[in-house]
Amino acid sequence: MNLVDLQRRKITLEEHEIPENYYNIVADMPNKPLPPLNPATLEPIGPEALAPLFPMELIKQEVATDRYVEIPDEVRHIYSIYRPTPLYRAYGLEKALDTPAKIYYKYEGVSPTGSHKPNTAIPQAYYNKQEGVKRITTETGAGQWGSALSFACSKFGLECEVYMVKLSFEHKPYRKIMMNTFGAKVFSSPTNLTEAGRKILAENPETTGSLGIAISEAIERAASDPDTKYALGSVLNHVKLHQTIIGQEAIKQMEKAGEMPDIVIAPFGGGSNFAGLAFPFLRLNFENGSNIRCIASEPSSCPKLTRGEFRYDFGDTVGMTPLLPMYTLGHNFLPAPIHAGGLRYHGAGVIVSQLLKDKLIEAKAHDNVEVFEAGVLFARAEGIIPAPEATHGIATAIAEAKKCKEEGVSKTILFNLCGHGNFDMKAYEDFFAGKITRHELTKEEILASLATLNTPTID
Ligand SMILES: *Cc1c(COP(=O)(O)O)cnc(C)c1O
Repeated sequence: MNLVDLQRRKITLEEHEIPENYYNIVADMPNKPLPPLNPATLEPIGPEALAPLFPMELIKQEVATDRYVEIPDEVRHIYSIYRPTPLYRAYGLEKALDTPAKIYYKYEGVSPTGSHKPNTAIPQAYYNKQEGVKRITTETGAGQWGSALSFACSKFGLECEVYMVKLSFEHKPYRKIMMNTFGAKVFSSPTNLTEAGRKILAENPETTGSLGIAISEAIERAASDPDTKYALGSVLNHVKLHQTIIGQEAIKQMEKAGEMPDIVIAPFGGGSNFAGLAFPFLRLNFENGSNIRCIASEPSSCPKLTRGEFRYDFGDTVGMTPLLPMYTLGHNFLPAPIHAGGLRYHGAGVIVSQLLKDKLIEAKAHDNVEVFEAGVLFARAEGIIPAPEATHGIATAIAEAKKCKEEGVSKTILFNLCGHGNFDMKAYEDFFAGKITRHELTKEEILASLATLNTPTID
């Protein structure tokens, strides 16, 4: 085969092409997100309410309305360890599917911890360090966020304390060791170190934990010590903002490939990697009337976007956060213990929720078996084993590529391969052993969870 006759498989950028700004989609949204509310008074809360938990610069970014936020040089310098990340044409997958569609993917698994999460961990650690913070607490589901924050804290000489959802703590011992290697302390959540943890353990000693519970624990620790702040790896506006370097790079790379995607796809937990890839493409829709479809892919066992309700809810399980306007299954919702740990969250970020409400983005759910089939097909075709979370985006990309074949049209599809699955062999082992089964929630289960809410609804 003459390689010169093929279009390039791997599209790279130079170090100096790392974006200089984060893109803030709020500046361009037709309907701005509704304000967060104080749960006691139901009045909108100001940014100062967040001051015990986050450094001032991140709070400013949380409520920023300017279109661009400059990336500090020190942050870009650390990004250059692994950025710009490559964008690939998925020749192998196209062939396996025998589809006329052109499929591309942006690969964030080349980061030091194997996912997109260092993109926000690095600036978060940087701003905390700037403001004299000594220690950062956080939660981690699948271990990706804890790893990323541990790495980032090690770059800035900060202590890092991680509350890891018990299910993952037991399934993924090597994630824990990775965090320890970067110098972090890791606890299996719920712990008896916090009031929130003790309360949950008293109610249900056998619990496998959840992201919501771990968040409550990490927040409680930060709120009770002035030298300690808290960091979140998804959901919040500033996290999504930092991730927009993914899409900005991807636009340059697609231009180099001489294409623009018709469809942009990313898996969806709290919305950060989806926002990261999709928001810069949505800017093209807003600015020059492009018509790029952006699709968020979620598990059918935790379907907040496709089957949740748009209303105010807490971000955590115990109810310590402000009330946020979002698509939610209810903060008491305990998802089935599926392997895509990073997607087991009851709610969606505020910005993404508003975009979905306004039909500017779409959402699609896939069951457990379908996503692992997609992941294995992808691994064999492309040589990268995807993170279980990432397989949801692959499943949507495959579904769209099959539709192209059926309809005899060629579309250009871009998806976010937001992490590799090299630490997720247990999940693949379970899949091959037939232990992963389809799991569809009943309407009654979803209604029962939503019925426990006494938070404000939104018309
Ligand atoms: C954390 C994580 C997710 C889910 O979080 P988002 O904020 O929705 O991106 C998805 N994929 C991977 C690999 C993750 O680590």
